[in-house]
Amino acid sequence: MGQEANGDFSDIAEGNVRFVADFSGQETPGLPARNLLLLTCMDCRIVPHEALGASIGDMKVMRNGGAQLNPNMVSDLIVANNVLNCDRILIMPHTRCGMAAATVESVRAAVEQNTGVDASDYHPSVVEHQLEKLRVDVESLRSNPMIKPNTVVQGAMYDVDTGQIEFIEI
Ligand SMILES: [Zn+2]
Repeated sequence: MGQEANGDFSDIAEGNVRFVADFSGQETPGLPARNLLLLTCMDCRIVPHEALGASIGDMKVMRNGGAQLNPNMVSDLIVANNVLNCDRILIMPHTRCGMAAATVESVRAAVEQNTGVDASDYHPSVVEHQLEKLRVDVESLRSNPMIKPNTVVQGAMYDVDTGQIEFIEI
């Protein structure tokens, strides 16, 4: 009959059992109490709610490699902003980001080595200049006509060595 449903995720299942035992989020609304949406990187060193002093129900979080705005992210941000009360949007990449250290060539080489496929048509979304990308993304969102006019869009860098956030003037 194959594996148990939790397969190699037994550590995760056990962690959830402990979480459920202390769970107190039953009455939490789905709209963010602090009207905040965070777009940050998938990096495992960033624990968003802890880093921003937030609790369950406080903010929405979107993540990808490099905290990058892209068409899918923009589409969801328009929903979050217009339907889900996210009037503050913080885009937060971080120091020592793997997406900034990698190159298209290095990622393709890894894919080819791991899988044996030809990865020459694969275009990983690496970040060449982090601050420039952040600036472009913040400005692009601020000028997006489908984002409500009173929305505050801000950029910040998260330092994975200190936990400190530096807001970037854009
Ligand atoms: Zn990263």
